[in-house]
Amino acid sequence: MQAAADLIPVLIAACHEVMIANVDHLCELDAAIGDGDHGANMQRGSAALVDAVDRLAGMPLPEALETIGEILVMHIGGASGPLYGTLFLETGRSMRLNAGAMDLTTAFGLAVDAVARRGRASAGDKTLLDVLHPVHRAIIRGETLKSLAKIACYSANLTIDMKAMRGRAAFLGDRSIGHLDPGAQSCALLISQICHTIQELEPA
Ligand code: ADP
Ligand code: MG
Repeated sequence: MQAAADLIPVLIAACHEVMIANVDHLCELDAAIGDGDHGANMQRGSAALVDAVDRLAGMPLPEALETIGEILVMHIGGASGPLYGTLFLETGRSMRLNAGAMDLTTAFGLAVDAVARRGRASAGDKTLLDVLHPVHRAIIRGETLKSLAKIACYSANLTIDMKAMRGRAAFLGDRSIGHLDPGAQSCALLISQICHTIQELEPA
């Protein structure tokens, strides 16, 4: 548990780096089927985590995850803020309420379900859940970090052919087909960055 908490500052820095590098890309994706702010929203969220990193580093993992969730709700904004926030809040909350008896994978699965309830979204609705669900299943199967990163990117790309059923993009109906979902793409970028960062830290 402590080892995982030690990872948090490193992962926050890596996630902020990938959000900075992709602000324009994510805004362009959102401009095509939404209001063009997703990159700016996500970068504001990751910057707020960088600002809070010393406080987060001193917390046990469940509390750190819950605090990350609160910070993301407050700083990302838009539709995606409460959804990303719920993901971290619920992962941390389940772990804390089960006093260390619940593993991260189970807590993450419950959190993905909470995100789906919060967004009233299901698989195939062209949202970040179209990345979270397959990645959770892949973690359960015991896939390697390298393959989790690939599955996240592959799954995001599958949203191109989907029709948006939730969020602003849903107003476009069939015209949302043919575009990569910005939330699915930010989720894939973050997951693959987390996987690559952990992989680099592992002894060869
Ligand atoms: P906003 O749409 O308020 O401008 P963002 O641009 O930050 O918020 O985020 C848009 C992304 O949020 C979408 O690409 C989609 O992945 C996700 N999203 C929006 N609404 C929902 C929902 N109801 N359920 C799940 N995900 C959603
Ligand atoms: Mg937007």
